[in-house]
Order: sequence, then C-alpha cells, then structure tokens
Amino acid sequence: MPITFEEFSARVASLRVQMDAAARAAGRDPANVQLQPVTKNHPADAAIFAARLGLASVGENRVQEAAEKRPLCPGLIRWELIGHLQSNKAKLAVETFDRIQSVDSSKLAGLLDRAAGSLGKVLPVLLQINAGHDPAKFGAEPADAPALLEAALAAPHLRVEGLMTIAPLSEDPEVAVRTFQNLRVIRDDLAARFGTPLAELSMGMSGDYAAAIAAGSTLIRIGTALYGSRDG
Ligand SMILES: *Cc1c(COP(=O)(O)O)cnc(C)c1O
Repeated sequence: MPITFEEFSARVASLRVQMDAAARAAGRDPANVQLQPVTKNHPADAAIFAARLGLASVGENRVQEAAEKRPLCPGLIRWELIGHLQSNKAKLAVETFDRIQSVDSSKLAGLLDRAAGSLGKVLPVLLQINAGHDPAKFGAEPADAPALLEAALAAPHLRVEGLMTIAPLSEDPEVAVRTFQNLRVIRDDLAARFGTPLAELSMGMSGDYAAAIAAGSTLIRIGTALYGSRDG
C-alpha cells in the first residue's frame, strides 16, 4: 500500500463528494450512507489511516489477518468481517470483530450465538444474501432468507442489524443495479413480515457504489478506490 496518509485523506474526501452526490440524486440524506474502508491484503497502516481520519469502521475478509492486524491499530475504529466465515473460525471471529456481515446459514448463526454467549457479549450481525443469484458468491439464497432471519432473531447473543450483499462481477452495470434493488425489496419484505427494521443495507464496492446508494445502501465497502489494487 504505497500511499501516504495525505493521499488517503484526499481520496476519502473526493469519494465523499461522489457519495453525497449519489445520495442527493436519489433524494436521500448523505448522512445516512457510511463509508467503510476495506483493508484486506493491506498492512495495518490502512486501518490506522482510517482511524486517524475518524472513520467509524473498517472491513476485513479473513479472520486470521484481522486478528493479527487489529492489535497493531490503536484507536476506537470498529472491525467488521465481510468475508466468508468457516465454522472452525467462529470463536476467533467473535473475539476479533465488532460485527460480522457474512452470516449466511442458520448453522453459522448458531455457532456465533454460542461463541458470543461464552464470551458474555451480544454480537451485531448482518445476514449475507446472494441477491444476484451468483453461483460464485457466498450468501443465503433469497428463498432461504426468512428461515435464516428467524434463526438469527431467535439467537439471544446475536443482534440482527440488517442485510449485506455482493453484486456478481459483470460487464453489464444493470446486473449490479438489479442485485441492489433486489436486496432492498428482500429487506423491505422481511422487515414487514418479522416486524424488525433491518436498517443496515451493506452494499456497494469501488465499481458499483453509486448504484448501491441509489437503491438504498447505508454502508459502502471500498477497497481499491481508497488504497489502490492489492495483491492476492
Ligand atoms: C474486497 C471487498 C470489497 C472491496 O472491494 P473493492 O472493489 O476493492 O472496493 C467489498 N466487499 C467485500 C465483501 C470484499 O471482499
């Protein structure tokens, strides 16, 4: 990550301008869209920069990598897991992260609930939904979302704050638009049916965040546009 803090600050500022424009164009309050830098495959400095700038959280997609970097990063910033979680890492994940965005099965919800209980904490989570029906992506199928939500809501040590999705890779920008609109509809349906707000909609990355904001995203996860491309 060969960028300086000054460059990072400038990139955040210019991204904010674009985010705010996308929100206003959709008739939304820009204050309701949070920027989450994605620091995976970058050194601890990436998260340190974000904390110095006062950003609320960073996203990481591997448990072990975050567990190693987090102790190097002072400050109040929250760490969130955005990558697929294997059952055998559930305990370390609950110890390492302030929120887990990638809960995609009732079984995993159960494991996280037990781990959080044994640590005496309530773990905020998002349910990851494969809203673009992408065979290459993790996430619960939309048809399985109600059962997953029911299981997560029944878990005493989990707090379900909303939904997350990743749009399929495609040359056609309409694919991302449809994916994000689909997640929004799924959220609205589930919220009405279960009587719970599911306020957080985590969707949008460097290449598609404007479409995500137009569809109602409350949190965009941005790696490349802030830190440059990464290895691996
Ligand atoms: C890597 C990653 C991102 C960031 O992607 P960029 O295109 O680099 O902005 C966002 N969300 C998830 C789940 C990721 O794994």
